[in-house]
Order: sequence, then C-alpha cells, then structure tokens
Amino acid sequence: MSHVLLDKDGRSSGLDLHNQAGSRAATASTHMKGNMIVFEGVGKAYGNAVALHTTDFTVREGEFLSLLGPSGSGKSTILNIIAGAIAPTHGRILLNGKDVSTVPPRERGLGMVFQNYALLPHLNVFDNVAFPLRIRGLGKDEIAQRVRNALERVGLIGYEQRKPREMSGGQQQRVGIARCIVYSPSVILMDEPLGALDKKLREQLQGEIKKLHKDLGTTLVYVTHDQEEALNLSDRVCLMNGGRIAQIGTPDELYFEPVSEFVADFVGESNLIEGTVTADNMVTAADGLMLAVRSTEAHATGSRVKVLVRPEKIVALDGGAAPAHLENTCTGTVVQTSFVGGMTRVELQRRSGALLLVKTISARAAERQAAGHSMAVAWSAQDSVVLKV
Ligand code: ADP
Repeated sequence: MSHVLLDKDGRSSGLDLHNQAGSRAATASTHMKGNMIVFEGVGKAYGNAVALHTTDFTVREGEFLSLLGPSGSGKSTILNIIAGAIAPTHGRILLNGKDVSTVPPRERGLGMVFQNYALLPHLNVFDNVAFPLRIRGLGKDEIAQRVRNALERVGLIGYEQRKPREMSGGQQQRVGIARCIVYSPSVILMDEPLGALDKKLREQLQGEIKKLHKDLGTTLVYVTHDQEEALNLSDRVCLMNGGRIAQIGTPDELYFEPVSEFVADFVGESNLIEGTVTADNMVTAADGLMLAVRSTEAHATGSRVKVLVRPEKIVALDGGAAPAHLENTCTGTVVQTSFVGGMTRVELQRRSGALLLVKTISARAAERQAAGHSMAVAWSAQDSVVLKV
C-alpha cells in the first residue's frame, strides 16, 4: 500500500493536481496549524427571508467541526457557502488564507459526501471512486493505486466490480467516502452522511469516520441534526438556531457550560429550575427551594434566572444523609420510571408540583424506585449552572 499518496496532511506527493496551489498553501499552514476556513461577516438572504445572519466563524486546520441544529437553522447554508454551491449575499470566505468568495466550487479543492450517496448508478465501485481522478487526468496506474488505497481505508477491497444497487446503504456510503478521499482534498464536507442509515449502522460508521479523520488529519465539516452524533465525533460543535450560531465550542463546553436555555435543551436532557438570584452563588426557586449554584457572577441579585441541572448529576440518597459535596437536596414522589437499557429515567414530583428528571444507572426491577414512592435526591452546586431567562 502506498501510504504517501494519502499522507497525514492530505497532500499529494509529486502529483500535479489542479488544486496544487491550495496544497502548497496547506503545506505552509500545516506548520502553523492555522485557520483552514474563515467566514468574515458572511450572510445569506433570499429576498426578505434570512437563511444565515451575518456570521464570523473559523474552522481550524485538521479540526472536526460539526454544524448541529434543528431543521432550517442554517447548517446546509453554511456548508454550501463553503463548497461554493451557494453565493453569500455579503461577506468573505477564506480557504487556507485565500479569499475564495468568487472561486467556483470545482476549483476550491474540497471533498463532499452527501446523504443520498450521489453515486453514478451505471458505474461499478472502482469506476465511481476513480471518477474524480479521471476528471483530473491522472494516469492509469496512479488511478489504480489510489482507488485501491481509498477502498482499503473504507474496508471495500473485493467490491470493485459491484454496482451501487448491489450494495447496502452503509456500503454505498463507504463508496461515497472513498470517492471523496481518493484525491486527498484539504477539506472534507459531509452533509448528513449517515442520515439514511439505521441506528446501529450509523454508530458503526461514526466510528469509521472518526478513525478516518484521525488517520488523514484532514479538516472536516460535518452537518447533522443528531446531537449525540455531533458530541461523539467532533473536536468542536457549532450549534445553529434560526440562522445564527447559538454556541460554538467543544462538546464538553456545550454540554456542561451552555450559554443559553436553547443550547442546554438541544444538547442532552436537562432540568431547568426557574428562580431568582438571592445572594452570591444562591438562587431561590419559585417554590422556595434554595439552591447553591456554581456561579452567579454574571447575574445581579434579584434577577430572574434558570438553573440547569443535568439529570445524571442528581444522586438518589437511599435513606442516608447527603454527602458534604452535594449541597442541594430535595424530596419528591416518583411519578414514573422508564427503563431505557443502561439508564433508568425517574420523574420525580416535588411538593410544589414541579417535576425533576433523574437518571440513574439501571438496577433490576425489584431494586428500582416504583411510582408512588418517596425519593430523596441531592446534587452539587458545581453541577448547577445559572442561565439567563
Ligand atoms: P438546515 O440545513 O439547518 O436545515 P438550511 O440552511 O437549509 O437549514 O436553511 C436555512 C433557512 O433558509 C431555512 O429557513 C430555509 O427555509 C431557508 N432557505 C434555504 N434555501 C432557500 C431557498 N432556496 N429559498 C428560500 N429560502 C431558503
């Protein structure tokens, strides 16, 4: 196997591909690990309808960045502006330090993987993967070697002669990925690539894509509406809402330090307890429950806030006293428990009527809290994050 053809920096060695100028720039910035994609004041409107409000954002070289958000939030608009398929209404796009705002898609040197695979149905696997190399005028031996290398990376050696219709959805998407990496693009764009596959296959391919990214070291921008997928795969997640970036950060930051109720709700499950800041690092809930919180620094005393507590951070007390590091306690009545495999979700109703969702590691039915039982729980101030209302 010729490793040098798909080296870690996504460069071709000794090949005169059409985007070689881009490759040279990539070589320069590889040493600096700079910004690969930069949006400067980029926006897109269709008449009066704004698809993307004015946006500045950066994707670093070698980074796996997911664009996450509900349908219609602007994810595809961003991806297609990077690809050159949509022209922005205003703003500049830099690729590898070069303004590509007016550069046509084919000349941007990007690789694309689509949800519907977009394979050529009359061509076999080999010819589908070879297609981008033939367009670029590579020689026969070079093509054979590169196609083999790409198929090896996606586990499809031996499938060269199959037609797309003779393959499963997962296999077809592997062909789509091989066709993308075969010409070593410096940036790979993936648009909901696993959206048409069932859960188990999605998880398997997530693992494969993650490994591929690690091996190739290519910058990868990945559109998904599946928050678990985004958290699992990404170095950073850009969460979109209504054509704006709601938050961009590491999966940890989005999950544990969301900047808004929207982010807290979209990424994982959450308890959001309404209350008022009554002292430094103290919030009194609407029903009188006093909560020690991580920080009220950004919130004046008297301001209305919501306190975010993740359900898995709440601990059942099993009759004993709360340990010292769990400053917040309350009791309630179990309304419902749902056994969802490894975790059990318990809905707890406090005396005020407010509900608290608790997630615990599953126990056998006889040891689980049944509906109607009283339950005492506790959680720490550190796990109580104050959000603006
Ligand atoms: P997402 O990928 O997050 O589902 P999109 O980027 O496709 O969202 O769309 C963002 C918004 O722009 C949506 O409200 C959508 O209806 C609108 N939009 C997208 N394409 C067009 C178009 N060609 N004409 C008018 N509005 C569009």
